[in-house]
Amino acid sequence: MPDPTAVTRTAAAPTAAAAHVPADLPDAIRHYIDGASVDSIDGGTFDVLDPVSNEVYLRAAAGRAADVDRAVAAGRRAFADGPWARMLPRERSRVLHRIADLVESRDARLAELESFDSGLPITQALGQARRAAENFRFFADLIVAQADDAFKVPGRQVNYVNRKPIGVAGLITPWNTPFMLESWKLAPALATGNSVVLKPAEFTPLSASLWAGIFEEAGLPVGVFNLVHGLGEEAGDALVRHPDVPLISFTGESRTGQLIFANAAPYLKGLSMELGGKSPAIVFADADLEAAVDATIFGVFSLNGERCTAGSRILVQRDVYDDFVERYAAQAKRVRVGLPHDPATEVGALVHPEHFAKVMSYVELGRQEGRLVAGGGRPPGFDHGNFVAPTVFADVPPDARIFQEEIFGPVVAITPFDTDADAIALANATRYGLAAYVWTNDLTRAHNVAHALEAGMVWLNSNNVRDLRTPFGGVKASGLGHEGGTRSIDFYTDQQAVHITLGPTPNPTFGKAHDGQGR
Ligand code: NAD
Repeated sequence: MPDPTAVTRTAAAPTAAAAHVPADLPDAIRHYIDGASVDSIDGGTFDVLDPVSNEVYLRAAAGRAADVDRAVAAGRRAFADGPWARMLPRERSRVLHRIADLVESRDARLAELESFDSGLPITQALGQARRAAENFRFFADLIVAQADDAFKVPGRQVNYVNRKPIGVAGLITPWNTPFMLESWKLAPALATGNSVVLKPAEFTPLSASLWAGIFEEAGLPVGVFNLVHGLGEEAGDALVRHPDVPLISFTGESRTGQLIFANAAPYLKGLSMELGGKSPAIVFADADLEAAVDATIFGVFSLNGERCTAGSRILVQRDVYDDFVERYAAQAKRVRVGLPHDPATEVGALVHPEHFAKVMSYVELGRQEGRLVAGGGRPPGFDHGNFVAPTVFADVPPDARIFQEEIFGPVVAITPFDTDADAIALANATRYGLAAYVWTNDLTRAHNVAHALEAGMVWLNSNNVRDLRTPFGGVKASGLGHEGGTRSIDFYTDQQAVHITLGPTPNPTFGKAHDGQGR
């Protein structure tokens, strides 16, 4: 089924010599509000570039407060008068499973568009499309198995939780894995009976425009899903400040999260914040070094290094430090940088020239702050486009900016340590606390180190392999509130406590002690 928000470009001229341009690429996309594809009320648009040519290939409708207002009103109407919030969980679950089926059946097209728009390698974009389907399946299953608490006070009271959807949820998402991260919010928000307004990242709006067609086909009632494209400071901000949006689920940079907190404060909204990271991977001398090298290479260079949970600081015990650095640098040099659509590509193009410039500025800084052992700029043969060679700095001191600041690209800092205590202190020595990875064959050390780490999620002898039932989120500057499994259900619902008296009404009696005449 054609994407209802897209205007098809018929003669899509390739913009870079070897670059792949998907067939039927739209050259304009619009908002989707109340079941219709619409332009901005003021007609505004913004330009979208593809990261290989850095040429404008798409104009997206630029939403502002009036467009957000329209979308919120549609969501409110659907919530108040439509069937979605009142359906049985099984009925909503069926729709969600159909959404997952449709995403799966379109995974190749989704991946093609996502890869073109974001620069992610096609194989990894395909994995993300499948994960998006899985997010819908997971929450479709969870809501039919959902049980709520009931408490008995023997002979006196039964008290139970009446779980209710909240209203219109505002979902604000970043550009690094756009479609998948949108699904991570859309699936639980919709599963629990809310309406939504999604504001996707402005660098990568293309794949988001596919949701409307998928939801229509799956039978989601009109007005439940609304999409407003636009800039963060305009469309995103209008959503954050909208009085009829009681929930904001945000994923993005820590400093944007701080701003959103402040801007939402007067409205006392529910906020879920998944923010930035500078996650450590700690490699002890007793670890399986080959597995640790493989995992830490993947951990920071997959998804172009544009990964919130990237293990971008590798802490290595001094006994194996030189050996590790040598093996790591040699393997990093072999990581294959290529055009995003090439199935052999392991690192594609960074999302946008602005982000490319930011990452390159850290590469330059790293030359002063550490010892360059791999990469260090554009890979040979890639004079244009946002390509950065996998870059490795060794001997990076903990006060270096490349140790402290999130780079969000294929750049890693390696630092030696001596004792367990040193490793823990170094790991915790940043403002972030999203993920951590520990490599050791000592069971006791593994758990003790994990418990001492200031990180929302820890993987022991493993890469970032998610179990969707576990909490997802960070501590410190990496976020507030955890989603994942039942925690997402909790965020998107209100748990009303209902109390029933079983025995005689246990009233303290006021106003009966005196008859008004002193008796
Ligand atoms: P960003 O903060 O620049 O933008 C994220 C979204 O917020 C975009 O849709 C943007 O338009 C919007 N936005 C920007 N300013 C806004 C404002 N004032 N009010 C409302 N909305 C606003 O982040 P990004 O550059 O798109 O994404 C990269 C960041 O996301 C990195 O820091 C990364 O670590 C983080 N991230 C975190 C997780 C996680 O789960 N913790 C996952 C992926 C990415």
